[in-house]
Amino acid sequence: MIKVCKFGGTSMADAKAFAQVKSIINSEASRRYIVVSAPGKRNKQDIKITDTLYATFEELKATGKIDKNFSLIRERFTDLVKDLGLDMDIEKILDQTEVQIIENKSADFTASRGEYLSAMVMAKYLGFEFVDAADLVRFDSRGNLSLDYTDDKVRQKLDGVEKAVIPGFYGKDYEGNIKTFSRGGSDITGSIIARGVQADLYENWTDVSGFLVCDPRIVPEAKVIKQVTYKELRELAYMGASVLHPEAIFPVMKNKIMINIKNTFKPSEPGTMIVPNEKYELCSDSVVTGIAGKKDFTVIFIEKSMMNAEVGFIRKVLSVLEHYGLCVEHLPSGVDTLSVVVASDQLKDGILSDVVNEIRENVSPDYVHVIENISLIATVGHGMNRRVGTAAKLFAALAKENINLRMIDQGSSELNIIIGVENSDYEKCISAIYKAFN
Ligand code: ASP
Repeated sequence: MIKVCKFGGTSMADAKAFAQVKSIINSEASRRYIVVSAPGKRNKQDIKITDTLYATFEELKATGKIDKNFSLIRERFTDLVKDLGLDMDIEKILDQTEVQIIENKSADFTASRGEYLSAMVMAKYLGFEFVDAADLVRFDSRGNLSLDYTDDKVRQKLDGVEKAVIPGFYGKDYEGNIKTFSRGGSDITGSIIARGVQADLYENWTDVSGFLVCDPRIVPEAKVIKQVTYKELRELAYMGASVLHPEAIFPVMKNKIMINIKNTFKPSEPGTMIVPNEKYELCSDSVVTGIAGKKDFTVIFIEKSMMNAEVGFIRKVLSVLEHYGLCVEHLPSGVDTLSVVVASDQLKDGILSDVVNEIRENVSPDYVHVIENISLIATVGHGMNRRVGTAAKLFAALAKENINLRMIDQGSSELNIIIGVENSDYEKCISAIYKAFN
């Protein structure tokens, strides 16, 4: 049995958190490959090491020096090593790092040092081997992860290594320079390692006990999702459910390695299990897995009689959106109607009226109408396509709360129902759906 464990920033924040991580790792011999983030916040006012490192780079750009910010990095790591009672020459490693940051003059290199130092200290503390992510993770010339190349490297380098600590968040680009993933990217590193070593489970340890069915700021009693499929998670993550980096499921998906989101500070809680479809069906009885949403969309509603008989109608509409560089989020349609849904923040500088005018010119619609301040809410559930009455229950709950539905869109996957409501109804709507299904 092999488990890959990734520990996030809060789990690496200080010596106390390190001790907690060590007890988790030592409680199971299968926890062999450990991926770590940079130390995060120790309290609400604190600053994450990664943020201080980005500030270090800004200081370097502005002044040619890094004394002000790097002294904060130095202090945190020397305190950490001292508090852990480690016999380790951290000053020397920090001196080298300082020189390298100045020489490299790269934001990615600078930011990556948080994970690098954090993994060095954790490896020493656990007595595990340190394996640098720069020797494992590779990006191609377009900046995308070279998964096959990386996979081979992970296999080669970790073969025969019984236990290792690996820094998250970075790898090398095709020219050999250090390159990072986007923020929160250590989750992707964990997934890459799990795939490479063909782990039985990828445990992602964080500071919450898994994904909640919906935003607890709206429904304080929201339950933890016990199981969610990869696909459901994609839908929920797109709508804003964070906790895990949205790209972290791809490396493990093909190999069907499950991901368990666990709480470092409440390790006995089961957390959320992210599973392939077949595993989910065996033991789940719930219809709705999660509810997520986003505010501030704009709907361009277009009506034209016999729209369906006009070859190329939708293409002509979409070409206008493309011309203005706008991404289309949804496209619900009727016989004579089409709604184009775009995120409102894309419509800056008054381009909305230009878009509408060009649609008028391009397709001569009978009627075009713009609806602003719309929220989209996705009710996601793998079990939906097997049950009769899910939509009825959802709509009845909204009617009871007097919520005006502005748009309905059910994807052909029948994995979710997306509805559009006024921004002012957003919270009320999520809460009504939660109550209807829980
Ligand atoms: N330390 C990086 C960040 O704060 C990456 C990570 O923690 O996953 O985004």
